[in-house]
Amino acid sequence: MLKFFIMEVRSEKMEQAKQESEKIRLSGLDKNELEALMETLGEKKFRAGQVFSWLYVKNAKTFDEMSDIKKDLREKLKECAIITDVKIKTKQISSDGTLKYLLEYKDGNTAECVLMRFDNRANLTACVSSQIGCAMGCKFCATGRRGIIRNLEPYEILEQILTIQRDTGLKVTNVVFMGQGEPFNNYENVIRAIELINTCLTIGIRRITVSTCGIVPKIYDVSNEDLVPTLAISLHAPNSVLREKIMPVEKRYNLADLKKALQHYSEKTGKRVTLEYVLIGKLNDTKECAAELAHFMKDLKCNVNLIPYNPVEPCDNGALTFKKPDKKDIMKFKYILEASGKKVTVRLERGADIDAACGQLKGKMELAQNGKS
Ligand code: SAH
Ligand code: SF4
Repeated sequence: MLKFFIMEVRSEKMEQAKQESEKIRLSGLDKNELEALMETLGEKKFRAGQVFSWLYVKNAKTFDEMSDIKKDLREKLKECAIITDVKIKTKQISSDGTLKYLLEYKDGNTAECVLMRFDNRANLTACVSSQIGCAMGCKFCATGRRGIIRNLEPYEILEQILTIQRDTGLKVTNVVFMGQGEPFNNYENVIRAIELINTCLTIGIRRITVSTCGIVPKIYDVSNEDLVPTLAISLHAPNSVLREKIMPVEKRYNLADLKKALQHYSEKTGKRVTLEYVLIGKLNDTKECAAELAHFMKDLKCNVNLIPYNPVEPCDNGALTFKKPDKKDIMKFKYILEASGKKVTVRLERGADIDAACGQLKGKMELAQNGKS
């Protein structure tokens, strides 16, 4: 009898789970799509505006919160829709206020996003992932070592910012695509995500930055988009020989072609690019490298951001050793670049105590899980 009862409860639960997965997910729908949904539900179009505002302005977590929406519509929505299917798996808070989330998607895959608060409290920057893993295999990068699993959908990217807003009650003001993944290997979805971030979350296009390791054809493509984000380029070496050793992408799209693409981007859009340069102790942080980098930047409209290398878990990198740069070498490097007339920033370590660097939290979770089995 008890067995029969348990089986019945189980099948009820399974039915419920099936029904949940068949429901329409509202998060990620734009105004037009919400209007179409209202029409199908036999509701007036203007209701879409109310739902839009609860989803994207008031960051509602439940239908019951949507107090100015008439009760019968809320009930209808509960029956046929869910707000989101993305869950927070873990959340870490750094002593400097940086928050790091590991999100779990519908298929069980996970990706990270980070909220950084800079001194100017008005600026809240979300760092988002564009893929689960990455195919580019940069030698110094934890994500690159694990390979690619899949692209993220536009709503899965948008959800990273929405999750932060729902969880903190704060409004994100800036977005950088600097989490896991190579955004330009997931070009269409990233462009759609940018559109959603801009129109649904009203984050200005000047406050959206895409970081790429230099997928040259996509730099030309993005220059022609209606919404052109700011570009950050992971350069990390001032010449092809050294770059090829640490970034396999150099074999496909070399520095000379990358430079031409960046010149085109700036001419077409008027925008300045940021060159990112991870300083790796005694590998690419020498005075000679700085002089070569200064020369490379001469005919580019750019700033440069120096990022002290953040050690990732040990692995075999052939003949190369990766270590943190010495403070005095960072200062020398910076000085040489500044003397060439460019604006140079050194990236502050954010969330160092919670591994808020490219791919590190996920790596640790995977290691812990592997260790258990
Ligand atoms: N795939 C894109 C977006 C990721 S951005 C790109 O590479 O640009 C993540 C930034 O952190 C990149 O500039 C990347 O090169 C850098 N990074 C990766 N591993 C790092 C490490 N161990 N220490 C410091 N920076 C790292
Ligand atoms: Fe991919 Fe960027 Fe990491 Fe290179 S640095 S492996 S492109 S995520």
